[in-house]
Amino acid sequence: MKPFPRAEISRQALKNNLARLHELAPSSKVMAVVKANGYGHGLLNVAQCLDNADGFGLARLEEALALRAGGVNAKLLLLEGFFRPADLATLVEHDIETVVHHESQIEMLEQAELTKPVTVWMKVDSGMHRLGFVPDEFHAVYQRLLACKNIAKPINLMTHFACADEPDNNYTATQLATFEQLTQGLPGERTLANSAGALFWQQSQANWIRPGIALYGVSPVVGDLGTKHGLIPAMELVSQLIAIREHKAGQPVGYGSHWVADNNTKLGVVAIGYGDGYPRNAPLGTPVLINGRLAPIVGRVSMDMLTVDLGADAADKVGDKAVLWGKDLPVEEVAEHIGTIAYELVTKLTPRVAVCLD
Ligand SMILES: *Cc1c(COP(=O)(O)O)cnc(C)c1O
Repeated sequence: MKPFPRAEISRQALKNNLARLHELAPSSKVMAVVKANGYGHGLLNVAQCLDNADGFGLARLEEALALRAGGVNAKLLLLEGFFRPADLATLVEHDIETVVHHESQIEMLEQAELTKPVTVWMKVDSGMHRLGFVPDEFHAVYQRLLACKNIAKPINLMTHFACADEPDNNYTATQLATFEQLTQGLPGERTLANSAGALFWQQSQANWIRPGIALYGVSPVVGDLGTKHGLIPAMELVSQLIAIREHKAGQPVGYGSHWVADNNTKLGVVAIGYGDGYPRNAPLGTPVLINGRLAPIVGRVSMDMLTVDLGADAADKVGDKAVLWGKDLPVEEVAEHIGTIAYELVTKLTPRVAVCLD
């Protein structure tokens, strides 16, 4: 018996998506971004499946250490960098690379006693204005990094886009130009592109692309689908019907009684709720795939359950499968119904959802 709810992860889809990204960025290496538990797909599972990725991008040191503990020997990069002086010895010990985006990190690097220099990626704030060194300070900071004995040379260079998921927004071109102008003629490798950069801004692909969401078969663009780019959704979120009920016109269902049936119908109770990470704010009408058709959510999503209107003639049975998103119900579309992005849906699944690899 398979557990439910469960996230079924397709190895074949993950491998297809990595190959597709290599095809879309033929001159670039791929740093597969597996932070946030592999975007909910299982950190170690994803890294082991994508063993031909050129490297992996993480947000936290703990994530990188989990990969090393799991036997992953590939290049690892901390995209937010390190936070404490003691982290530096850990980076050296486990051969983990780091982004440097702030003065406080330079101070820690200058003051450390290390057995080996650390490979760093200097982050340029080319317009996102979240992390990184601004253009005015770039050259002074670069010289300071060059002078630091704990930093391996050459220094690698990176930036991050604010609007690459809007293919018509010229801000990306401006960021690209700022980065190119600052880093022109410098040695070291370069990386700019997240999934949207890799898909829509070919000029930004550089030495390394850093795709996250696209690896999981999902488009970074609202209103778009990963499948339109030759990507295959890697996750199917599955639960099952645990009750079928005759429901009369005029009766409400669930907390707050805020949906009332117009007609006699059958309701299905699906064993998944916000305690599993399915959003409580999913509105009436958000689709759930049951026996090949879309059934709308009615009533409020509760902690462990949600209810769908199966229709008066429904022949569904207790134990039938309910798909919350997957190949036949794109997570991008579910996200639009809920008023969020697919990134949030896949990363918010809680530990109660079993992650199963096929
Ligand atoms: C998360 C992250 C990525 C991956 O972004 P996607 O939009 O999922 O492709 C790339 N670069 C950095 C710095 C990140 O933090």
